[in-house]
Amino acid sequence: MEDLREEIRKYALQNAVRYGKSPKKDVVLKRMLAEHPDLRKDAKNLSTAVQEEIKRIESLNKKYQEEALMKIAPELMAEINVKRSGERAEIGLPELPHAKGEHVVMRFAPNPNGAATLGSARGIIINSEYARMYDGKFILRFDDTDPVLKRPLLDAYDWYLEDCDWLDAKPDEVIVASERIDLYYKYAEELLKKGAAYVCFCPAETFKQYKDHKRPCPHRTASVEENIEYWEKMLSGVYEEKEAVLRIKTDIESPDPALRDWVAFRVLKRDHPRPQVGEKYMVWPMLDFESAIEDHLLGLTHIIRGKDLMKSEKRQRFLYDHLGWDYPRTMLWGKIKMHEFGKFSTSELRKAIERGEYEGWDDPQLPTLRALRRRGFKPEAIRKFFISMGVTRNDIAVSMKNLYAENRKMVDAEARRYFFVRNPVEMRLPEVDSLVARALKHPGREEYREIETGNTVYLSDADFAKLKAGLKVRLKYLCTVEVVSTEPLVARVVDRATEPTTEMPVIQWAPTKGIKVVVKRPDGIEEGIGEPLIATELGNVVQFERYGFVRIDSVEERETGTEVAAYFTH
Ligand SMILES: [Zn+2]
Repeated sequence: MEDLREEIRKYALQNAVRYGKSPKKDVVLKRMLAEHPDLRKDAKNLSTAVQEEIKRIESLNKKYQEEALMKIAPELMAEINVKRSGERAEIGLPELPHAKGEHVVMRFAPNPNGAATLGSARGIIINSEYARMYDGKFILRFDDTDPVLKRPLLDAYDWYLEDCDWLDAKPDEVIVASERIDLYYKYAEELLKKGAAYVCFCPAETFKQYKDHKRPCPHRTASVEENIEYWEKMLSGVYEEKEAVLRIKTDIESPDPALRDWVAFRVLKRDHPRPQVGEKYMVWPMLDFESAIEDHLLGLTHIIRGKDLMKSEKRQRFLYDHLGWDYPRTMLWGKIKMHEFGKFSTSELRKAIERGEYEGWDDPQLPTLRALRRRGFKPEAIRKFFISMGVTRNDIAVSMKNLYAENRKMVDAEARRYFFVRNPVEMRLPEVDSLVARALKHPGREEYREIETGNTVYLSDADFAKLKAGLKVRLKYLCTVEVVSTEPLVARVVDRATEPTTEMPVIQWAPTKGIKVVVKRPDGIEEGIGEPLIATELGNVVQFERYGFVRIDSVEERETGTEVAAYFTH
């Protein structure tokens, strides 16, 4: 009973956290009995153990209960988080504020400095879904005006478009900010003419001193004519990087230093990876400026943004006031953290890929949409996953297991079944010429596949480890054998019936002429042998029985035989 304590604690905590009350004894008991039917014999002890665990949990406050559950069963905590947010948005998304009768325009605005990730999928799906709900417009805008620190990746533009299509979120309009820089200059000029912006020559440290003391720098009071002249000099390359910036006048005495006269443009004498832009510009808008101008020009009615960008909105509102524009309605949402990936920066990932630590942006270890697509995920599962979470200000911690569960429901009904054994060990069947197995292609359908084998089969090393001389096992769908020896592994057929007649261990196998299969998984690469029909499933998601779902990624004919590469789904 003692080794079951942690499991009891896990279910009791789950029940307590889920409903915010004392754990229900009968719920925990039921769950334990479902997992361990043999405990019925020991019901009394089980009941006592459950009672004791419940007592202990009752003495903890809510916060400690959540922490304890997070520690011993993060997947259950994650499940609760998903349920909590799902309850707020059981059918689709909640209504947008004031949207009735209004032409809703929403956008997703990534920096294409890497491939879209699961986090991007959330932005793509929720924004496009809202546009669809109100028969509005969904814009994909590339905020790509940082040619240095977040330098765009040329391929990523197309990848984003592919990913949007894949997620059934095709944008109605695509905007590339780096191709509209002249437009931003026009507004900079307008602001200068209004006396709402100025060219500042203070070194960053000097300006910080002024700012921290709520004092204007000397450049703030320059005349409009002077400023226009400086701006033109800035544009024609007279000033070097860091020598001059264009600042928006805000409230220099604002209680929040981050809002005081922020930088809208800077000098960067760098090229841009897009050939349409190239070396055309030496003055680049900051994201706050570029996105603020675009959000207005594109007629956005609603913006959903991370709550960490609250400051951006406050800065941008000064700009909107100068230009006499109304700010779009904004909703803030918290971050979604996937347990398996932790903190994740596109720039760092890009460096790791360039160092060769990953195969590419679609490496199965990565949370990019390209990787998930290659692993055979259904876009519908990703859509459902994010829509059920809705738009909440809370940070949500989830596990990939939640997404796997959603995806499994969809792939399970279609995926055909095959045998695959990893780290194969050869079993010799000396008396056999050939044997044919008739196996179901899918447990829900009366369709069969035939697997022919000669006088050997392959077993996984894990199954092999359980064998000993004299043991009888069933080779699934094939026959019953008795192990003669294990070194080398030899067996004799004792029953050729393809359906089991008595209870005994059933194991998977691969035939004499099996093909080499390499499975690329998030946790590494596994190799083994599979049945030859796997080679006919190129591009499809199939299930390797007792192993998991995989997508057949490539099939190659080599001198040594057919070789299949599969990406592990889950
Ligand atoms: Zn200055």
